[in-house]
Amino acid sequence: MTAFGIRLRGARTIVAGDASRAPLSIAGGRIRATLRGRVHRIDLRDHVIAPGLINAHEHLHLNAVPPLPAGAPFPNSYAWIAAFRSHFGDPAVVAALAVPKTLRMRHGALKNLLAGTTCVVHHDPWHPVLDTPDFPVGLLREYGWSYALGWPDYGPPVKPSFAATPADRPWMIHLAEGTDKTAQAELAQLDALGCLAPNSVLVHGVGLRARDIERVIDSGGAVVWCPTSNRNLLGRTLDPGRLQAAGRLLLGTDSRLSGARDLLEELRAAAAAAVFGAREALALVTTEAARILRLPRHGALAPGDRADLLIVADRGGDAARSVVGLRRAQIRAVVRDGVPRIADPDFADWFAAAGVDAVPVTLDGKPKLLARVLADPALLELERGLELVARPAAPVLEPVVAEGTC
Ligand SMILES: [Zn+2]
Repeated sequence: MTAFGIRLRGARTIVAGDASRAPLSIAGGRIRATLRGRVHRIDLRDHVIAPGLINAHEHLHLNAVPPLPAGAPFPNSYAWIAAFRSHFGDPAVVAALAVPKTLRMRHGALKNLLAGTTCVVHHDPWHPVLDTPDFPVGLLREYGWSYALGWPDYGPPVKPSFAATPADRPWMIHLAEGTDKTAQAELAQLDALGCLAPNSVLVHGVGLRARDIERVIDSGGAVVWCPTSNRNLLGRTLDPGRLQAAGRLLLGTDSRLSGARDLLEELRAAAAAAVFGAREALALVTTEAARILRLPRHGALAPGDRADLLIVADRGGDAARSVVGLRRAQIRAVVRDGVPRIADPDFADWFAAAGVDAVPVTLDGKPKLLARVLADPALLELERGLELVARPAAPVLEPVVAEGTC
């Protein structure tokens, strides 16, 4: 039976960055100021409710492809791409790329969802599977992109793509992904092309020097920080402090070809860098990401926003501390469009109230319920740590042999 509305009571909710004790009301997949009619109430005392996380950089279809076993650090991403060519002959890579792209895209989305990430920026050509109603995550839509200045054969050409992108929509490009002169020269090249503007979103920026960062800030553009990917490929990452202070920083995972397992791990890396606190780190994947990527109904849990959220145990102190540092199996529930997608088994009533069929799984060894629509065995096969729980087989009855018949 589907309830008209859901009211989450007793938790601290992070609304636009600040904690609120007010109940959170959900109906029709949105946060509501009030509810009318039948209401299903859920007691969430000792919990924190946070907005679903926004991953500002991802290549969804590459998350099950084995990474390069050696070679890092590379001077720049182009050297890494060149090294990767020979890797394409590796049987494990051949097998991974033989998996249908539709399934690989869904797997990348599932990876994100399991870590509380409900909205993703996919930095590759659009694919029809992204428009399917049961796709596991929401996506940034209506944006422009190019791949990289030094890799013009893939993706839309830089100048025409930038020119065709409306000024109120983000335009993205990998930039300065390296530590050498090639990477350091890219910001000036982009500037000379007239493609550095308030809607420019530059991915990586490791080669940006202090004066380059000031130029980005002056232009109103922004940088997506992918610390784990940068360290794995290049041996270091950018100093995010100045961009964060200026409100021009986002956080992304990149794919597992180079990046961390998921956005929670990147959040932990961001916090470990100790440039800023948990509250600021969480803002990079909620309020700041929504503002910079022009996603007005995400990241804040205000009335009218999408009911995309994660529920975690309250660890005290600033509410953001209950999210930053977590591992994915520690999330109590991930909710998208007001409906639980993966949650601890004691949320079974919510699945039932929402009319969502759920199946038992384990995530990194911890029992969970997963919405059946996401429990395709071929999909789960791609995600290490996520396993269906085999239902106990029906007992085999021994034939009853009546006494005295033999
Ligand atoms: Zn990338």
